[in-house]
Amino acid sequence: MTNPVLNDPTRRAALAALGGGAGLAAASSALGPNAHAQSAPTTPAASVPAAPTRQGGGFYHHRIGDISVTQIVDGARTIPLADGFVRNASRDQINAALGQAYMPANSMTLVYNPMVVTTAGKRVLIDTGNGPDPKGAVGQLLPNMMAAGIDPNTIDIVLLTHFHGDHVNGVLKADGSLAFPNAEILVPSAEWAFWMDDGNLSRAPEGGVKQTFVNVRRVFKGLDRRITRYEMDKEVAAGLTPFATFGHTPGHASLSLQSGNARLLIQADVTNHPALFVRNPGWHAGFDMDGPKAEETRRRLYDRAVADKVLIAGFHYPFPSLGYAEKDGDGYRVVPVAWNPVL
Ligand SMILES: [Zn+2]
Repeated sequence: MTNPVLNDPTRRAALAALGGGAGLAAASSALGPNAHAQSAPTTPAASVPAAPTRQGGGFYHHRIGDISVTQIVDGARTIPLADGFVRNASRDQINAALGQAYMPANSMTLVYNPMVVTTAGKRVLIDTGNGPDPKGAVGQLLPNMMAAGIDPNTIDIVLLTHFHGDHVNGVLKADGSLAFPNAEILVPSAEWAFWMDDGNLSRAPEGGVKQTFVNVRRVFKGLDRRITRYEMDKEVAAGLTPFATFGHTPGHASLSLQSGNARLLIQADVTNHPALFVRNPGWHAGFDMDGPKAEETRRRLYDRAVADKVLIAGFHYPFPSLGYAEKDGDGYRVVPVAWNPVL
């Protein structure tokens, strides 16, 4: 049945101004069946509305058994495809893979998804995103966390999987103060040992790796008393256990989250964007510090994830950064979860 109020464009615009779908339905019923016979609104219809430029709060709540989990967007960065982005694949091969995923050629959009796990009364933030960004393309963890109903002051533990800037820079706010002032900061002990070694710093080639050494020391300066180094295969919070997935960085950790029979495999950066690096596990990205080792780790982890049919969270997967892996030729593919509006 058609609603005469809703079919009148002037009335529709006026009602929409009351607050979108829910407001529109409520206003429509409040006006009653004869509403269309009443006098027309005195305010003119709005001019053509501007196209939206931002999404709403990027967060996704879900549960692993009794454990509450929230995936949170820190933002996305689109960069031109640099030569050597993948050490052992040509630009044509990369563009072909981008095309298969309906992504534009010659650029790469990297997305960043930290997450919060609430287990046995402890709130654990896993990775912190890029930190403050004046342009706003990234650095959206804090506003999105608050939109998700999570107060940054209630974070008990900040757990870092590795020391690349897109994972650690969000530890600090723009003024250098702590973004999560009540949190203990857990870092992989192998990662700490590598990046804090002055000999390793002096041997690092100029460029990205050397910059990472400098950045890590900037972020962690003065935080010694807050930082605890964690070991692999030892539970850090109820049901949350890190394990070694070295290669992307020398001390890179992934995590297993278990509650009853439910499990989530938090891979961190075992792969970057699945359209390139899950589909092509043999590709050695420029940011994988040890390409062959990263590949070996990737294939081992994905073979197991396929066999176990386990849900995977990927820091660089498209939001909500959750999916299941299937074997596909020499590689794998990720089947993303369907958005579930009900918890
Ligand atoms: Zn990363």
